[in-house]
Amino acid sequence: MFYINKNPILAGELEVLNELKAQLASNGIERFAEFKPGPRNIQFNCPIHAEGQERKPSCGISTVNKEEVPAGTVHCFTCGYTASLEQMVSHCFGKDDEGAFGKEWLIKNFLTISIENRKDIILDLQRGNNKSINNYIAEEELDSYRYYHPYMYKRRLTNEVIEQFDVGYDNHFELKDKFGKVKSVLRCLTFPIRDINGNTLFIARRSVDIKFFHYPEGVDKPIYGLYELPKNSNEIIVCESILNALTCYTYGKPAVALLGLGTEYQYDQLRKLRCRKLITALDPDAAGQKATARLKKALNGSKLVTSYDIPERKDINDLEKEEFENLQELF
Ligand SMILES: [Zn+2]
Repeated sequence: MFYINKNPILAGELEVLNELKAQLASNGIERFAEFKPGPRNIQFNCPIHAEGQERKPSCGISTVNKEEVPAGTVHCFTCGYTASLEQMVSHCFGKDDEGAFGKEWLIKNFLTISIENRKDIILDLQRGNNKSINNYIAEEELDSYRYYHPYMYKRRLTNEVIEQFDVGYDNHFELKDKFGKVKSVLRCLTFPIRDINGNTLFIARRSVDIKFFHYPEGVDKPIYGLYELPKNSNEIIVCESILNALTCYTYGKPAVALLGLGTEYQYDQLRKLRCRKLITALDPDAAGQKATARLKKALNGSKLVTSYDIPERKDINDLEKEEFENLQELF
């Protein structure tokens, strides 16, 4: 068992290491080709020497707590690297901070309420009646996703936002090919896409392991977040992705998402909103800039539309609260 500040990490050692491997991979960093569990340690390809591409595992992490070698001690027999688990995590993510980032990473991923049942939250069950008749996603299905997952917090969601948008976790999403054959099974966050009355039209998913988004095939994407908008918001932020819109809520501002770059149907929905002003916050790349210009043209005459000046190569979800609050508004 590994520990953080003497608090046991309840996940298994291999689970911790596999999560590290998956998150590094999703950041384009290939490490730990294999893990070989033994009775007192787990061997893996050293992340330090040979640029982290060692052929045969010669680095190990102890899994048994001993006074002189506490559990989580990393040692490489080839290059001599010796570190704690949090120091190794920091190092893998390219941080030279004595393990400060690594510790934070472990706490965020493993000491939060990991996967805890949320069944005791108060549900508005009335609203769920008669849904399946109308081809809406049934309440029973939504209920089966009502779990917390550490990845939610990693993407800056708060419990309040999770409840408001009914963000969930699907631990076994079968991705199928066009013949209905299962291609792979993914662990995903679930985002119910609701219509303005709160009926769930379909579910969008984001893998917690890799950069992968999924919408059911052939759906007509509405504006995400219409139902959840506070009644009297005067200005609403328009984002590309769900996580960007939810980050705005985390920072206290109402927002919606286009689930892409915007369609005529969505422009129409934006026109009908009871607010005077929209602030676009699309990604600051060529596609985002083009989509912003198109949206401004489409809403010309019905809304005042301004834009946030988002730092290059970033999106709203990357921003700390202070950066978000200091965003320049362009008219
Ligand atoms: Zn080494």
